[in-house]
Amino acid sequence: MPFLLAASPSVLSDDHFSPCDGEHQAADVSLQRIESEWPMRGSGDAVSQYVQKLGTRLAHFSVYERNIPWRFSVIRNLAPNAFSIGGGYVFITDGAVKFAQNESELAAILAHELGHELAGHFCGASELSDSVGLFDIFSAPETQPHQVGIGSMTQVIDPVKEQQADQIALSILQASGYDPRAMLNVARRLPKGDTAHPVDSQRLQTLENLLARTPPMKAQDSEDFRTIKRTLAKE
Ligand SMILES: [Zn+2]
Repeated sequence: MPFLLAASPSVLSDDHFSPCDGEHQAADVSLQRIESEWPMRGSGDAVSQYVQKLGTRLAHFSVYERNIPWRFSVIRNLAPNAFSIGGGYVFITDGAVKFAQNESELAAILAHELGHELAGHFCGASELSDSVGLFDIFSAPETQPHQVGIGSMTQVIDPVKEQQADQIALSILQASGYDPRAMLNVARRLPKGDTAHPVDSQRLQTLENLLARTPPMKAQDSEDFRTIKRTLAKE
């Protein structure tokens, strides 16, 4: 029987099985702001369609039941970035797709964002707050929760929640047949902050510990992934 990287219940918030009051309303407000501030790829765009298909497939393999209408959107921006805003909205930039060296790594980036949504990290979000609880995989972690501006919005980075999202991502990757080590490979290559943060090495160590008993897998790729990479390279 394969070793399963199921995230323990302790990494999930107490109310993750319950609908979160205000989460969808707050997410809709954030969505409008993002769409007014960033150039988005349309839903008919080939990159958008590929990311939506991959993200939906990953969500299907999650063991956590939240009734979420998943929507994955691609931002035309070359800076590697991926974030979620609650309500099932996940965003990824062209730069993050380019950053992924294979489909497993792109799956890891999306699965991490799914992790934030599935863990209920947006429960309690308020549409009246400037701080929209927006999580970003490419931000350098700090020892304490801190805020970073994205457009007009404020991003909340909480190292504990980042590790929770990582752990859920591992279980999704394994269940969907992608190499969970892709999460570690992505984390190792994330941009470092101005100073060396102990949390960087702590995050990597946690991932390494979780993956220690996982048999090696071949990094997965697909013709669709290679086609999308070629499309982005030509633009
Ligand atoms: Zn995150």
